[in-house]
Amino acid sequence: MTAAGDKSGNRNAAGALRVGTVIDERFLEHKTGHGHPEHPRRLAEIHRMMESTFKDRLSVIRAEPATVEQVEMVHTPGHVRRILKTAEQRISSMAPDTQVSARTYMAAWLAAGACIRGVDMLMAPSVDAFFALVRPPGHHALADRAGGFCIFNNIAIAARHAMKIHGLRRILVVDWDIHHGNGINDLFYNDNKVYYYSTHDPGLYPYSGYVTETGEGEGLGYTMNIGLVREMTDDDMIRLYEQTLRPAIKGYDPEMIMVAAGFDAHADDPVGKSAFSENLYGRITRGIIEWSEKPGGTRPPLFFALEGGYEPRALTRSVASVFEALCKPGKIETPEALKASETPPDHVAPLIRTVIDTHLPYGIISP
Ligand SMILES: [Zn+2]
Repeated sequence: MTAAGDKSGNRNAAGALRVGTVIDERFLEHKTGHGHPEHPRRLAEIHRMMESTFKDRLSVIRAEPATVEQVEMVHTPGHVRRILKTAEQRISSMAPDTQVSARTYMAAWLAAGACIRGVDMLMAPSVDAFFALVRPPGHHALADRAGGFCIFNNIAIAARHAMKIHGLRRILVVDWDIHHGNGINDLFYNDNKVYYYSTHDPGLYPYSGYVTETGEGEGLGYTMNIGLVREMTDDDMIRLYEQTLRPAIKGYDPEMIMVAAGFDAHADDPVGKSAFSENLYGRITRGIIEWSEKPGGTRPPLFFALEGGYEPRALTRSVASVFEALCKPGKIETPEALKASETPPDHVAPLIRTVIDTHLPYGIISP
C-alpha cells in the first residue's frame, strides 16, 4: 500500500502516453435476448477494430474475475446472491430492461475484475491510461439492484478499490454517456472523495441528474449534473466541457480521472437522441489530458470503462477516436468560436451560466 501523493503526480510529461486495455471474448457471452440494444456485436466490432488498428501499440490484458469482497465494496450481499443465482439459467430478468443469460454472471465478475486490474496497472504505474472494454456496462447499477442494462457498477467498484488499496482521496468521474449515471451519482452522493461530473439528456432514462442535484452532507458540491440540449453540436459540447469540466479539474485536483465512457450521444445511435460525431470523444479526451496537466508536466492517471453506445459501427469509431487521442494526445481542438467570440450560441450560454452559478457557492470551482 502506498500513499496516494507519491504516485498520482508521477506521470510522464506531455507526449505519448502508455496505454493499456482489456480484450476478452468472455464479455461476449453475456446475451441479452433478440432485439436488445446491448448485444454482444457491440464489443465484437470493437475487438475487430482493436485487432487491426491499436492492439500492437497497447498493453493488452485478459480479464480476471473480481472477488466477492471487491464487489461487496459497492453492492449488497443480497444483490451479489441474486446475480450468482442466474448462473447457468438460460435467461433471467433482473429489471424490466435488463435480461441476463447463463454466462452473464461471469462476464459481470470479469468486467469488475478488469476495471480493478486497470486501476492497479495505473497505480503501479505501468500505464498512464487504461480503457476497460467491458460489458455488461455499469453506471446505472445501484448498491442493491441491476437496471439500465447494468449488473455491477464497474467504475464504482474500481473507485472504491483505488481508495481502499491505493489510498486515493480525490477521484473525478466524468460520465459522458447520454444517460445519467444514477448508480455512480447515488453511490458517492455523500462522499467528497469522488467528484461525479455528468452530462446527459434529462429526457431519457433514468430521468435524474438535475443541475440542482449537487451532493449531500460531506459530498455537497461534489456532484455536477448537466442536462444537455438535444440541438447541441460537437463545438457546443467542447465549449461546455471547457467552461465546466476544466474548472472542476482545476478546483478538485483529482488524483485519478475515471471516465464512464458511453457513446450513445452519437448521432447514429438508436437509443440516444443527440447529434454528436465520433470526433467529439477524442476531442474531450485531449481536453481532459490537457486540462489535468500539472506544473512540471505531470498528470493524474486516466481510466475509462465502456458504458453505452448501441450502433456498433458508430460505437467503434467513437472508441477509436478515444484511443487515437490517448496514443497521440496533442492539443484539444477548441472551436474557433471559443477563441474568437465571447458570445456563445444562446442554448449553450445559459446552460453554462446555470451550472457555474449553482456551483460557485461551494468554493470548489472558481470563476
Ligand atoms: Zn447510455
